Amino acid sequence: MISFELSEQQHQIREMTHWFAENEIRPISLEADRLGYVPEDWLQKINQFGVQLNTSSISSSENESGYNKGEREGNRMAVIATEELAWGDPAIALSLPGAGLGGPPIQSSGTQEQKDRFLTIFKNDKPRWGAYALTEPEAGSDASNVQTIATKVDGGYLINGQKIFITNGGRASWVVVFATVDPALGRAGQRAFVVEKGTSGFTCSRLVEKMGLRANETAELLFEDCFVPIENLLGGEELYEKKNSKRSGFQTAMQTFDSTRPIVAAMAIGIARAAYEYTLDIVRQDFPISDKYHNMTAEMFAEMEGMIHAARLVTWEAAWKADQGIPNAKEAAICKAIAGKMALDVCAKSLELLGPIGLEGHIVEKLFRDVKVFDLFEGTNEIQHLVIARRQYEPYGIRV
Ligand SMILES: Cc1cc2nc3c(=O)[nH]c(=O)nc-3n(C[C@H](O)[C@H](O)[C@H](O)COP(=O)(O)OP(=O)(O)OC[C@H]3O[C@@H](n4cnc5c(N)ncnc54)[C@H](O)[C@@H]3O)c2cc1C
Repeated sequence: MISFELSEQQHQIREMTHWFAENEIRPISLEADRLGYVPEDWLQKINQFGVQLNTSSISSSENESGYNKGEREGNRMAVIATEELAWGDPAIALSLPGAGLGGPPIQSSGTQEQKDRFLTIFKNDKPRWGAYALTEPEAGSDASNVQTIATKVDGGYLINGQKIFITNGGRASWVVVFATVDPALGRAGQRAFVVEKGTSGFTCSRLVEKMGLRANETAELLFEDCFVPIENLLGGEELYEKKNSKRSGFQTAMQTFDSTRPIVAAMAIGIARAAYEYTLDIVRQDFPISDKYHNMTAEMFAEMEGMIHAARLVTWEAAWKADQGIPNAKEAAICKAIAGKMALDVCAKSLELLGPIGLEGHIVEKLFRDVKVFDLFEGTNEIQHLVIARRQYEPYGIRV
């Protein structure tokens, strides 16, 4: 039975991450956005926190410790912590050292040796990142259309191709790269490799200048005859070669979304809450306004509060299902679609309420730019709706 009461551990993580967001992240938020990066000395300073606070590290570390399915709460911990960190600043939250989106595929498909080799490097005094590279110029929403080729050679694979829009891709110590052994095989041909920084033939060709999330690095990556040893094929060859194995890199990529979509939804909720609270504070205190105006704004604030609350509940439900080991692809898509749209709406309403003063030097203007991508990455809203619709029609034997 789902309960919305927070456990003691969940309370603690919420308080700790909120304290960190308020005292360490928020003070550098506007400056990092202006610079277009998170200052290196800040990253060094917070690294000791960062290892614990990077949200996929929170869920991963629990998995590592071998909880039983029913006792797990890592996914709920991750969404609770993420909401607070994104409340501080979403671009900085995404830039905290840790495995990032690269953690879940290694957790779900990696061998124990690979988990030990790649997921333990973050317990270190130096900030380090992991990354997840699926998107290509011809494979975004249609993730089955990956064109990056993995050619089997003696002792490993040669990877050739390009990946775009990769979060923390340039600075990452390793990147989980999805490539195909044969494009004609479609999904079945996909494999996931861990490509380490410094591997010959692997380069970061460009950092993308973005409208929002400006302080977070988004990279384009190139693979030119990049040799990856067999030990870095996620799950090893046995995973794909087992008789009747339906396993492919595509499944690994999609499974990742079941745990990361609720986290992305939680980020959107944190952004919405930040815009809402900031605006409410200003409107309540600083505006020389009539009671009539207050009645109008009260209605808008009430609507925003309700939207944020509803998005949080569906997000917690998706995370709770993941913790129970219950399939949650539909709920993960629902919360991602609802939260992204809701947060964009709340930021727009907040700007509307602030009027022209909101356009300069206030975090709401920045949040409005940051939030747009939340109905885009980890699958656009149209793709979330497709995921939901497929599950609705499936029982009737209809494919959409
Ligand atoms: C800041 C940022 C960070 C990112 N980080 C990562 C990362 O770390 N790793 C990674 O792999 N990727 C990452 N991405 C990529 C992101 O996941 C893709 O941009 C996203 O999946 C959309 O793919 P696309 O850009 O190719 O758009 P397209 O797939 O070309 O979509 C364009 C439009 O067509 C619509 N559309 C497409 N297909 C359908 C359909 N079947 N039905 C209805 N509508 C459809 C889409 O909804 C969208 O509106 C990131 C992107 C951004 C902007």
